[in-house]
Amino acid sequence: MNKKRNYIWALPFIFLVLSLSLLFLFKQSKTVEMTYFEFLEAVESSKVEEVVLNSNPKMKVKLKDDLSIMYITDNPRNPELKEFLLKKQIKVVEDSSSSAFSILQGFLMIGLFFVVFRYVIKNFGRQASKDIGDFNLKEVDSNNKKFSFTDVAGNEEAKEEVKDIIDFLKKPEKYVKYGARMPRGIIFYGPPGTGKTLMAKAIAGEAGVPFFSVSGSDFVQMYVGVGASRIRNLFEKARKMGKALIFIDEIDALGKKRAAAATGGNDERDQTLNALLTEMSGFKDNEGIIIIAATNRLDVLDEALLRPGRFDRQVEISLPDIKGREQILRLHGKNKPLSDEVDLSKLAKQTVYFSGAMLENLLNEAAIIAAKRNAKIIGMEDIDKAFYKIIAGSEKKDRSNILNIDREITAYHEAGHALITKLIAPSHTVSKVTIIPSTKGAGGFSMNIPPDKMYHTKKDMEAQIMISLAGRAAEELIFGEDNITTGASNDIEKATQIIRDYVVKYGMSKTLGLINIDVLLNNNSQSFSEETLIKECSNHMERLYKATREFIIENKYYLNMIANALLIQETINEEDLNEIMEDNFIINNTELEKEKFTTPIRAKRVVEATP
Ligand code: ADP
Ligand code: ZN
Repeated sequence: MNKKRNYIWALPFIFLVLSLSLLFLFKQSKTVEMTYFEFLEAVESSKVEEVVLNSNPKMKVKLKDDLSIMYITDNPRNPELKEFLLKKQIKVVEDSSSSAFSILQGFLMIGLFFVVFRYVIKNFGRQASKDIGDFNLKEVDSNNKKFSFTDVAGNEEAKEEVKDIIDFLKKPEKYVKYGARMPRGIIFYGPPGTGKTLMAKAIAGEAGVPFFSVSGSDFVQMYVGVGASRIRNLFEKARKMGKALIFIDEIDALGKKRAAAATGGNDERDQTLNALLTEMSGFKDNEGIIIIAATNRLDVLDEALLRPGRFDRQVEISLPDIKGREQILRLHGKNKPLSDEVDLSKLAKQTVYFSGAMLENLLNEAAIIAAKRNAKIIGMEDIDKAFYKIIAGSEKKDRSNILNIDREITAYHEAGHALITKLIAPSHTVSKVTIIPSTKGAGGFSMNIPPDKMYHTKKDMEAQIMISLAGRAAEELIFGEDNITTGASNDIEKATQIIRDYVVKYGMSKTLGLINIDVLLNNNSQSFSEETLIKECSNHMERLYKATREFIIENKYYLNMIANALLIQETINEEDLNEIMEDNFIINNTELEKEKFTTPIRAKRVVEATP
C-alpha cells in the first residue's frame, strides 16, 4: 500500500519537472534581467532595438548589440511609454501574450494539469477502497500467522467466556436449530497490552474463520461518508466469506458517550457508528459472523452500543496475576536461549502490574541485549537491564519500593473486605479477591455477590455497610490511624448511600423512628433539619465501624493469612478463602513477616512462595 501512495505523492513532482523542462524547451533565447534605470539609459543611448509590451509586470527588451539575448525589465505599464519609445525610433511589439509560444505553453500546462489531476483522483479513489482491501483488513489465512488458544497464556476466565462463540462460529446451524440467539458483538475491555487483539485472533484461529480487523481510530478525521462506506465494504467482504470474525480495535474512538465527546457532534463518527449498528442488526441468525470490539475503558462507551443484539456480551481482560505472568513469560521464553540462572517464576513475582505486552517486550529486549554482546545465552544481567529499560520510562522514583508498599496496603484492604464478608455474611459469594487493579478502579477488588433476595433485612444492610468499611478498618489496624489511604473512597460512598436509605427511606433508625425523612425535608418542616439527619447517619456509621474493627482485631490472624495469601498469589478464589478460614491453608514464605502470624498453622495444603 505504501508503494502506491508514495507514487501518488511523486506525481506533483513529475508534473513540476515536466513543466519546467517545457519552459526551457520553448525559451530558445537567453534571458537577462535589467533594471528599469538601465533600460532607460539604454533607450537614451539608442541601444534598444525592440520592446515587447503587454500587461505583464515585466516586459521584454532586445538590444542592438546582441539580438539573441532577451532582456527582462519592469513594465511601468504607463500608456505613454509606447509613444515615448516610438519617438525614440524603437520598435514596439504589442502582444497580448508575448508570443505564440506562451499560448502554447499555457495550453500545455493546463492540459498536463488536468491529466495529472484526473490520474491522482482516480488512484486516490482506488486507494481508498484498497485501504479496506489490504491495508486495514488482515485475514489470518493470507499473510498472518494462524493463532490459537495456545498462543494466549493465562486469561483463563476470558477463554472460558468465549468458548461457546468458537463453537457457534464453527457450526452456526447447530445453534439455529435450537432457536438460540448468539451474541453478535462482544466487547473485550481491559488495560492496553493484555492480549485483547491476540484473543480475538486466537478465536478466529480456533474456529477456522477469516479474521478481519479495523481500528476505530482509523475512522477519525475522515471525510464524511467514507467511514460508513468502509464499514459497509467490510461487512460485505466478511459476508462473502460466509463465516468471519471482525475485530474492531479502539471502539471508543467511534462509540464514545455523546456527552463524553466534548467536541460536540461529529457527523463522521456518528455516521460510521450508525453504519456499524445497522450492519450488525442486519445479520441473519445463521450467519456465522461475530464482531469483537476492544476498548481500554468500558465506561466511556455509548449505551446504545451495549444494547441487546449489539455488543451485549462484555468480557474483561485484566492484567495478569503472578500465575498468569509466569505462563506468559514461559510462552515467550520458549523460543529463546535462556540461561539456567533465569528463574521465570521469580521474574513473574518481580513484574507486578506488567501487562502481557510488557512481559513479551521484556524478554525481547533481553534477547536483543544478549545478541548485542554476542552471548550464547540470555543471562540474568540481560533480563535485569531490559527490566530497568522498560520501567525507566514509566517512573523515575524507586518504583519497586512504592509498588511494595502499595501492594501491602491493597492486600490488607482487600483482606479486610473478604474477612468481614466471611465472618458476618457467609451467604455471600466471594468469587475473587485480587490486588491486581481492574479497569473499574485503582487498587484491588473483591468480587462480592450478595444472595438474590426480594427483601433486604436491617441486618443485611448493616452487614453490607460493615463489608464496605472493612477495607479502611484493616488499613487502620495494620498501618496506623495516620496511614489510612484514599483507597477507601468508593467504599465510604457506598456505605453512606446505604446508611442514608436505612435512616431516610426505611425507618430503620430507632432514634428517628418510622418516618420518611425526605418527605419531611421536602415540606420544609421546621422541626427537622439536615443537621439532625447527618448526625444520625454518622452515629450509625460510627457504631458499625467500631463493630467492624472489633471483628477484625479478634480475627487478625485470619486477616494476616488472607493478606499474605494475596501478596503471594495476588489473586485468591473462594476455595482459597474458605481454606484459610478453615485453617487448611498454609503459607510457606520466608519473605513475609513471621510475627504477623499469631496462631500456629495446621497444614493441609501448602502454597510454595519462595524456595
Ligand atoms: P491489546 O489488544 O490488549 O492491547 P495485544 O493483543 O495487542 O494487546 O497484545 C500485544 C502483545 O502482547 C501480543 O501480541 C503478545 O505478544 C503479548 N501478549 C499480551 N497478552 C498476552 C497473553 N495473555 N499471552 C501471551 N502473549 C500476550
Ligand atoms: Zn475497598
